[in-house]
Amino acid sequence: MRPGDVIQTKRDRGVLSPEQIGTFVSAAARLDGSGWEKYHLTALLMAIYLNGMVPDETAALTAAMANSGKRLDLSDLDGPKVDKHSTGGVGDKTSLILGPLAAACGVVVPMMSGRGLGHSGGTLDKLEAIPGFRVNLSEAELRAALRKVGLGMIGQTADVAPADKMLYALRDVTSTVESVPLITASILSKKLSEGISGLVMDVKCGAGAFMKTREQARALADSIVKVGTANGLRMSALITAMDVPLGRYVGNGLEVIESIETLKGNGPPDLTDLSVALAARMVRLAGLAPDDGSAEKQVRSALSSGTGLEVLRRCIEQQGGDPGVIDDYARLPSTGAITAVTADRAGYVVSMNAEKVGVAVRLLGGGRDRAEDAIDPAVGVIVRAKPGEHVGTKHVVFEVHHRGGPRLGAALDLLKESFAIGDAPPWSEPLILEQVA
Ligand code: URA
Repeated sequence: MRPGDVIQTKRDRGVLSPEQIGTFVSAAARLDGSGWEKYHLTALLMAIYLNGMVPDETAALTAAMANSGKRLDLSDLDGPKVDKHSTGGVGDKTSLILGPLAAACGVVVPMMSGRGLGHSGGTLDKLEAIPGFRVNLSEAELRAALRKVGLGMIGQTADVAPADKMLYALRDVTSTVESVPLITASILSKKLSEGISGLVMDVKCGAGAFMKTREQARALADSIVKVGTANGLRMSALITAMDVPLGRYVGNGLEVIESIETLKGNGPPDLTDLSVALAARMVRLAGLAPDDGSAEKQVRSALSSGTGLEVLRRCIEQQGGDPGVIDDYARLPSTGAITAVTADRAGYVVSMNAEKVGVAVRLLGGGRDRAEDAIDPAVGVIVRAKPGEHVGTKHVVFEVHHRGGPRLGAALDLLKESFAIGDAPPWSEPLILEQVA
């Protein structure tokens, strides 16, 4: 099968056959001299970006990408295996909260997460802020964690979905990331490799998200639910607002503190409610509750009884981290230098741009410009006044934890322009915008 013929099919708005898709994906995984070069791959990616795919093509692409590498078989472990995935946001630390809560309710959670890139954070970076925490578990160590704790939080190993690694790297540099079929296949190929039977998706929508409009978010959520179902997963998806940071803490070590506080019952309402809503859907997909309402009751009880917090403690211990951080936040990295960004007039905070806050944290050293950059787990921002809250002149809006350096000024400038103050409280939108399944 000549690469040019496959490209031509999609260029001319045709539907690719499973065989054509299979050839493309195995070339992406190995570039094994079958005639495909990177320029063929990128030409086909652009044709898919421009002309889209029908659901059957996206399902075939997803399955081929998942099968391009190792797929865990966890069928020997008792219990339903369900995970959650978010399309990425600012201050989104729900995985650290809902993983323990779902496990406390009896779900087995093999959670394979990513690192932060650009303005959005990543679960692995947050976990690594805990001294000693290892995310690179071997398969045997992951199985031991799932058996003992019910939760394992790990990074993607080199042998999982290798076709996605190549294709994602090419998309990143050829303006072909924002494509519903390509994002669907990329996310689900990795999730199918975890050996799960159910997946809850949190599709973020708004200024701090990939999907800026409700229509884009709905199209992605619909596609992921359809293709996940076609590949044998039980699926649920929420579309949730990502215009302002979730919770109040942004930055890796700071987000660990807010996650622990939430599991202690002291979390901010938006973060607590979203974590509970997502964990409840995991419990329902696991078959441990007949509907979302009764699943939510189970999750709230794991929160109020402290069993969720105990699962996090055991997870940290099991993965080599210092469980003492749960009782003593001084064991987490901190900067020692704090600068306040204050309101220059009295009034209500009427808006706050999550993307600008995320970029400011990246400039402080808490995120990456390039995938290979190192990050500083101690830096970040605490949002002391969120939209809807009243502030006086000189009231602190952001508490900035930093280490000085040449990019501090730019980070502070960005934070200053990230919010606005008005005379009346803003219209407040619900956090959960839609449930797709
Ligand atoms: N996250 C992924 O893993 N893949 C995409 O294509 C987009 C976001």
